[in-house]
Amino acid sequence: MKLVVLSGGGGGARLTRGLADTLEPGELTVVGNVGDDLEVLGLHVSPDLDSLLYTLSGLIDEDRRWGRAGETWNVLESVGAWGGEDWFRLGDLDVGLHLVRTQALREGVALSEITARLAGRVGLRCSILPATDDRLRTRVATPAGTFAFQEWYVGRGHRDEVDAVEYVGAREASPAPGVLHALQAADAVVFAPSNPYLSIGPILAVSAIRRAIERRSVRCVAVSPLVGGQAVSGPAGRMLSRMAGGTTPDFVAQSHKDLIDALVIDRSDAPGAADVPVTAPEIELVVTSTLMHDRGAERRLADVVLEAACA
Ligand code: GDP
Repeated sequence: MKLVVLSGGGGGARLTRGLADTLEPGELTVVGNVGDDLEVLGLHVSPDLDSLLYTLSGLIDEDRRWGRAGETWNVLESVGAWGGEDWFRLGDLDVGLHLVRTQALREGVALSEITARLAGRVGLRCSILPATDDRLRTRVATPAGTFAFQEWYVGRGHRDEVDAVEYVGAREASPAPGVLHALQAADAVVFAPSNPYLSIGPILAVSAIRRAIERRSVRCVAVSPLVGGQAVSGPAGRMLSRMAGGTTPDFVAQSHKDLIDALVIDRSDAPGAADVPVTAPEIELVVTSTLMHDRGAERRLADVVLEAACA
């Protein structure tokens, strides 16, 4: 079965690992968010692509849930001591990847090509494609002003409420090579449990990707990133409350309006018999446990998603 998953780097990467464990090598293509990318200390960092790479290869720090296991921080300490920019956490092992990627980009290699090379180095069983090779950057408008994504997320600890999200460059961006082909060849499409505004939104902002999903003839299944009406981590719950008006499955479904056939939600969010869906009644709800506390839970959720995708 050929599957395309749209994913950020957190919850998305863990469901992707569950799917990769279940599917045959070559069946899974992950389209990753690049709206969080940034240039820091002269390095091009792609946090979501890297989280996918680290999670799928087993290099991720499972406790921190980002960056590499066994990481050390000598470079960053030295940067700080020399008066350099040290607000963005870059570990020593992590820097190695950024150096290799940045050099390749400077030599004219596309982001998709260098991502494929990196994935090849760690022997991944699936393909990771950036949504686009073009420059696409998420910005957030808050009551304290408008910020570049990482300035708000890391620099300000995402403490400001978000009123609007903008994907700078999306209008001119083309899908990276392979993305449209993967979507056209897919037997199903999955939106991972990633932030709808910050991870899935920037991918769908590439209009040819959105169009390909709108025109698909196969099922598209989204997994809610909320458990008990709240994000497992990060600002998705707060953002949905403020920007969409609520955090019930109805509001999550509404954030993917016209794009999905089914929404997988946690048992704790299952609507009662008396609750009538108001915003997206045509979307089928699939109720299961969606908290991925270990590899077994990732695989169990992946199985439910695959079943919903084949229904
Ligand atoms: P980011 O790029 O690191 O923000 O990663 P994502 O957007 O892929 O993931 C962040 C989202 O994953 C958050 O909204 C979390 O609520 C969600 N998430 C994290 N762990 C889990 C989990 O175990 N289950 C579910 N359903 N969502 C999760």
